[in-house]
Amino acid sequence: MNRLDWIQKELKTLKESGLYNKIRVLGSPQGAWLEVDGKRVLNFCSNNYLGLANHPKMTTAAKAAIEQYGVGPAAVRTIAGTMKLHEELERRVAQFKKSEAAITFQSGFCANLGTIQALVGKDDVIFSDELNHASIIDGCRLSGARIIRYNHCDPVHLEQVIKENEGTYQRAMIISDGVFSMDGDIAPLDKLHEVANAHDILLMVDDAHGEGVLGKGGRGIVDHFNLHGKVDIEIGTFSKAFGVVGGMVSGSAAIVEWLTQRGRPFLFSSAMTPPDVAACITGINILESSTELVDRLWSNAEFFKKEMAAMGFDTGHSQTPITPVMLGEAPLAQQFSRDLFDAGVFAMAIGYPTVPKGKARIRVMISAAHSQTDLEEGLEAFETVGKKLGVI
Ligand code: PMP
Repeated sequence: MNRLDWIQKELKTLKESGLYNKIRVLGSPQGAWLEVDGKRVLNFCSNNYLGLANHPKMTTAAKAAIEQYGVGPAAVRTIAGTMKLHEELERRVAQFKKSEAAITFQSGFCANLGTIQALVGKDDVIFSDELNHASIIDGCRLSGARIIRYNHCDPVHLEQVIKENEGTYQRAMIISDGVFSMDGDIAPLDKLHEVANAHDILLMVDDAHGEGVLGKGGRGIVDHFNLHGKVDIEIGTFSKAFGVVGGMVSGSAAIVEWLTQRGRPFLFSSAMTPPDVAACITGINILESSTELVDRLWSNAEFFKKEMAAMGFDTGHSQTPITPVMLGEAPLAQQFSRDLFDAGVFAMAIGYPTVPKGKARIRVMISAAHSQTDLEEGLEAFETVGKKLGVI
């Protein structure tokens, strides 16, 4: 026996049970088409909703920032000072979101970890949607607060569990994903706000998949529900629609100031790099200048879903461009994904434990980068594979 034997055993089990995640290798930038494992394929996998990951304005801004500020911040902001560029991004995020203030983190994951821990602790409770993202779950656990799950997108059940636990905690916070990434459904944020307000509880939403997608010109879920100033914390990411990497928190000035003092990834980890920050500022500029990309994203999604339904596919109950193609059992979803890849389409199968058993699917991520011809080619591949495997 060797101290690493258990890892080999676990890896073998994963491989034997078909749960081992083999990571494909890209030889091209993100876009509608990719080179994956040496093959040119249509991309239905990435979160590059607006096609900004390789947009010429974004790459130009990143290069210019390298010339002016170099490639890295070289220390955490509270120790070596913060670059003007980071402050500018935070000001621009707050303006874009119409919030009092904003702060950036190294990723959306870090934003969740840092924010939750800074606001609740061991005498407190978190009311958490049962399908919240892993980074919220980890943030909740790290905080040491008691975690009480409520039924998915169910404000009535939320209110029930709040009442059941009244008087048992000091502070409380309600946390929900904005758009749930596996089904593409939207949290009823207006109703969650009513409950939070009635019980004077902090409300936090993680809008990772709503950023650049929901609201006017992609301003996100708070804008979508017209709840400006009413949601205490809106977490976001620059890694999806913005096509870069980084996390953001927008909300009240008091919370943002508190995070500069108590947000652990802010205090103990170096900031986003200058080219990332400059690209994010440019992303906001692009979104503010026109709704064209967001409009195209939605019309592409509408077209794709309509055609898939007409062919007889079950695309679940998504309200966003995330399009699950429900297939049932994991082996069928995996076979479907392999056949699509052979037909030149890159679309991942998702199965248990990411989604419940029996709810395996192909998740199609539609982007504004897709042309009409791309979508038609993708649909044709789905039709061929769907018929071959007896799904339609
Ligand atoms: N929250 C949600 C809901 C997400 O889907 C993701 C990304 N998968 C994150 C947070 C993490 O974002 P990032 O990639 O910026 O760390």
